[in-house]
Amino acid sequence: MKPLNSNFYSFIFCVCTFLTSNLLTAQTTEQHIGESTYQMVKKRYGIYTNDSILSLIKKVGKKLENNLVLKDSIKYFLLDTHEPNAFATAGGYVYVTRGLLAILGTEDELGCIMAHEITHVTKHHSRKTLEVKIIPAILDIPGNIIGELTDPLYGKLINLNIDYPAETIAAGFSRKHEREADIVGVDLAAKSGFDPFALASALNRLTNYILYFDSTFMEKDIFNDHPITEKRISYLKHHLVKRGYLPTPFTKGTTLPTLNGLIYGINPIYGVVNKNQYVHPKHLFSFLIPESWRPSIVQGDVTYESMDKRQYIFQSIDTSKKSIDLLIEQMSKKLNSTNFTLVKDTFHSSPFYVIKINSAINGLFYNIFYLPIPGKKDIIRLTYVYSVELTPFKTNEILQKLTFLQEKDLKKYYYHSVKIQPITIAKSVGELSDELKIADKNKEIFYLINGCTSINDVLTPKEGFMKFISNSSLGI
Ligand SMILES: [Zn+2]
Repeated sequence: MKPLNSNFYSFIFCVCTFLTSNLLTAQTTEQHIGESTYQMVKKRYGIYTNDSILSLIKKVGKKLENNLVLKDSIKYFLLDTHEPNAFATAGGYVYVTRGLLAILGTEDELGCIMAHEITHVTKHHSRKTLEVKIIPAILDIPGNIIGELTDPLYGKLINLNIDYPAETIAAGFSRKHEREADIVGVDLAAKSGFDPFALASALNRLTNYILYFDSTFMEKDIFNDHPITEKRISYLKHHLVKRGYLPTPFTKGTTLPTLNGLIYGINPIYGVVNKNQYVHPKHLFSFLIPESWRPSIVQGDVTYESMDKRQYIFQSIDTSKKSIDLLIEQMSKKLNSTNFTLVKDTFHSSPFYVIKINSAINGLFYNIFYLPIPGKKDIIRLTYVYSVELTPFKTNEILQKLTFLQEKDLKKYYYHSVKIQPITIAKSVGELSDELKIADKNKEIFYLINGCTSINDVLTPKEGFMKFISNSSLGI
């Protein structure tokens, strides 16, 4: 799968590799890059704490590892994001998101996806990507000259002591690597006792999810490219049939009870969107978003996008505990003084700043608001990106949309969680949803995650469990 979400709103992170010695070998360099990437991933997505689910991931991982000869053990992490994804980075780091678990149907599907990721690790795809794509770019040497990365080259790289853009480090693997991870991965899955055909069903679920929920989600990911997914499924099936594997008629369903209560969708601690109102329950503020703008929340960072995709709002919380003046001073130093202006004003009798930047490159206007959160040292950063310059009137209008709340102002906010339901009688998706009082919207999620394409599809009972997405209230 793809290494990192590379949606348009992804902020550019820089990872300092902290490499100090030129005696480091390629392997230790990989470890360092893996560790740096881990720090970035943790900051970006957060770790979802759930011991039983993490145990499940580790158990599946160990089952696969038992059929491999590994120098170092693999490290597994569960990420707190609703985006269904799994990825592997240098140094043997394998990440699975809770969003992925919510849409998977069985342990076999999880086993196949993890086998794919572990194959990226065992085949050193990260190192190979570094060698042919990233290091040549950094050192300005054509990739085909390097061929194999030697220790002196690592030394040179280390001595440069540069910050690597993280998305470059975790850059996507080539199609060739993906195909290798698919083929070698399903063989590993089969050898480890998982149904190797489950990779195809997992790919189908992902495709359904992407097509149904968000056509732009993971737009750069090959999963979004339907013909390519079909092609992948077709070569996988061809390979498995050639190997003499037969698809198992019914899934084992053992994963599912462990997932009971798993949060599905955005974790409410990072903010809740209610129609056009965004509420941050932890930092107690709220603001109104223009109607029809599309929100996206990734661990504290919120993005709103206008329909025409020419206007954006980014919101994040600065918890660095630096004073607002110091932040502005640092920001001013970073920016070219000729194309930005700084405005200081007061809001709710506290000082705040607006940095106005006119970008000559893309013709957009950036307005960055730094606002203190009353009673806290944290600072809200609202970045408005417009194709037209903001007038003072419009700036004022933006501020009017922002309010600070009291604990008592918080009403109940809702989050979705996975509910496991064993079924014994064949019923249609619609009937079962009605019986369990699943809201209409969630019926749709339900039949997609269960692989049905219509609300009238009849579910197959037998010994399996079915997964539902249910509404649960969260009392804040
Ligand atoms: Zn992959």
